[in-house]
Amino acid sequence: MSQEKTAEINLVVSGRYLVTDSQNVLEQENISVAVSKDRIVEIGDNLAVKYPQAQCLSHAHGLIMPGLINTHTHAAMSCFRGLADDLPLMEWLQEHIFPREAQLTSEIVYQSTLLSLCEMIRSGTTSFNDMYLFAKDVARAAAASGVRAWVGEVLYDFPSPNYGELENGFTYTEDLFEQYAGDDLITVTVNPHSVYTCSPSLLERMAAQAEEKQALYHIHLAENQDEVHTCTERYQCSPVQHLETLGLLNERVVAAHGVMVTEEEIKLLVERRVKIAHCPESNMKLASGVAPVPAMLAKELVVGLGTDGSASNNDVDMFGEMNSAAKLHKVDQMDPTVMNATQTLHAATLGGAAVLGAEAAIGTLAVGKKADLIMLDMNQPHLTPVYNPVSHLVYTAGGGDVFHSVINGQVVMENRQITTLDEVAIFTEMKRIGEMIQRMGQ
Ligand SMILES: [Zn+2]
Repeated sequence: MSQEKTAEINLVVSGRYLVTDSQNVLEQENISVAVSKDRIVEIGDNLAVKYPQAQCLSHAHGLIMPGLINTHTHAAMSCFRGLADDLPLMEWLQEHIFPREAQLTSEIVYQSTLLSLCEMIRSGTTSFNDMYLFAKDVARAAAASGVRAWVGEVLYDFPSPNYGELENGFTYTEDLFEQYAGDDLITVTVNPHSVYTCSPSLLERMAAQAEEKQALYHIHLAENQDEVHTCTERYQCSPVQHLETLGLLNERVVAAHGVMVTEEEIKLLVERRVKIAHCPESNMKLASGVAPVPAMLAKELVVGLGTDGSASNNDVDMFGEMNSAAKLHKVDQMDPTVMNATQTLHAATLGGAAVLGAEAAIGTLAVGKKADLIMLDMNQPHLTPVYNPVSHLVYTAGGGDVFHSVINGQVVMENRQITTLDEVAIFTEMKRIGEMIQRMGQ
């Protein structure tokens, strides 16, 4: 057990199982994590007794683990959940999503992001990487919730319902960087939508902005066969080769999907230190294909998990995403040994942190790291008996099993009650927005 001499202990979280990372599990009565301000300062036995003045979140059958990290989502798309399903990607986008996105407002994005944040907190996500329109409203919602967020305004060649002409998109992003400079919870990123919606010059200009700001370059890449066809027609090469030719593959790139990548391209992505946000449920629902994640992991490419938006998933529950990821690769490879529980939990925690360049701060529970942690109630029929907690986390648990959540040392959910957001007000507002969105299609 380790300890750091520090200031006052504000919070002690105490349970029966402690998953410090995907490979280390302790089982012990009253195993505890002590938090001072935003950091973990001590891990040990029965710390609630040692620090009686601290707030205590305790459960006799509790499992304490790092909060889950969603490396690719569009939180505000919760407003389109279930609006149109079971359609080919282009028909879905062009007939149902794009016409409505064109009518989005700052307020719809703010409220819809709040709704997703409620769902994220309730299902154990403590960090998310978002790409969407009206990113200032996404950031404002994230800040209100206390959830750690990477946020960027999506840019493409055509005018945006948010900023209008492309040039204004750069100014908007500049404002975001200024507004959140040095913020503890919000990190601003640069978000070109994709190689098929952004010209080479736009991709290059945004890369220069990412370089100047030392920011992540978050892009959809090699999502499906259509993207490869379009790219091949226009540039005579694959999406990955296109970015390579432009000299844009580097350690800042967070590539969402990476479904259509060859063995050679995986090697190139490793060499260029590109990171992958793997979104298996979205890839399944839109029939995009299966990302070669076992091959990526074998070559030590950094892979995190993401839900993508709620219109193509249709939720942001990272426990569900782990379950799907582990099973999808087994059936795809016809090999039950691939994408095992440890690898899958790693992708949803420390792997995700590494995708975001934040592995020194989050992704595991250790003294000195940020206090981003969740507790699950293991005293439930589907989680009994417990032979291997990591197996349960990947194959059995769901977001509804999470009952406490702490982010940056702040308790954001206690006994399944969100402390930072008014859920009743958000649901009421979203019902009104839902009716509005329904009418947009008429
Ligand atoms: Zn996406």
